[in-house]
Amino acid sequence: MLDGYMREINYLRVSVTDRCNLRCIYCMPPDGIEMARHEDILSLEEIEQVIRAAADIGVRKIRFTGGEPLVRKGLVELVERTAAIPTIDDIALTTNGVFLPQYGEALKEAGLNRVNISLDTLREDRFQKITRLGQLADVWKGINTALRLGLNPIKINNVIMLGINDDEVLDFVRLTTEQPLHVRFIELMPIGSNNTWTEGRYISNDQVRNTIIKFFGELQEEKKVAGNGPARYYRLPGAPGTIGFISAISSHFCNQCNRLRLTSMGTLRSCLYSEQEVDLKVPLRQGAGRKELRQLIARAVKLKPEKHKMNEGWQDKERVMFQIGG
Ligand code: SAM
Ligand code: SF4
Repeated sequence: MLDGYMREINYLRVSVTDRCNLRCIYCMPPDGIEMARHEDILSLEEIEQVIRAAADIGVRKIRFTGGEPLVRKGLVELVERTAAIPTIDDIALTTNGVFLPQYGEALKEAGLNRVNISLDTLREDRFQKITRLGQLADVWKGINTALRLGLNPIKINNVIMLGINDDEVLDFVRLTTEQPLHVRFIELMPIGSNNTWTEGRYISNDQVRNTIIKFFGELQEEKKVAGNGPARYYRLPGAPGTIGFISAISSHFCNQCNRLRLTSMGTLRSCLYSEQEVDLKVPLRQGAGRKELRQLIARAVKLKPEKHKMNEGWQDKERVMFQIGG
């Protein structure tokens, strides 16, 4: 379906939970958050109903995210039910990777095509500081599980922060020469309850790219990395993996945006940065049928703004990233 700015909306990101086993410094406050009550988040059956109605109006690609999607019970079953919808041709997951050894195989069998795994540092002590609760070795077990299972492509999401992990850019680039991993440098965003932004940790992808070019020379653009996202990819000669840049702040990519977001609370957002939401939970619980759901989803598509206003900072009083779905 086309939105008001003639963009084809065919991609739905589904936040299945606001809970997480980690507390990354740019995402969650140290003491955690007040979690939504179980009855306030959509059930798996309700999520499936939304996905089916979204598929009716042209959504072809689904990404499960959160919070940490692998802490939601029943995710494997949800992936299986989603894969059974004939017009859905791509199912992806964004995860911190910790529970991939446990669920990876079942997810793949259920129909998961690919994963994005978040990893901001290759150093154990730093990893613990950034995630506050995690062990680096657990994420590596998750990445190795994804490699062994042949989930493809495997993208590594790396939020680069000044004075925290910006000295590891070249190490991450080297990783792409050793393994078929697609490392994406993501600009830090001023999202919700994180002090990292206000501490001045933002660094632009132009700076990251310059660091890479200074050491490795000019980068060759690579068009063949599968995905729906806004990243631009480059490959070092002969490398099995690639380097991508997601530059939401320095060069917004709103004109190519093809996505809608379903929050774990059952509202639809047409832009991460827009507080305008269409509630689906109440209608679902009042017995809305597929046609009514389709109409509500179409309303959200029409509400999609032309571009985000991220440079003005995070204005949202209602939700932050892990609640909306990153
Ligand atoms: N827990 C999963 C994970 O970490 O991959 C999925 C949810 S997480 C919110 C999704 C992505 O959002 C992660 O790659 C994370 O690094 C990114 N993210 C969270 N807060 C961010 C911020 N303030 N700026 C940029 N990226 C952020
Ligand atoms: Fe959890 Fe992902 Fe947020 Fe880290 S970025 S706290 S892993 S939801």
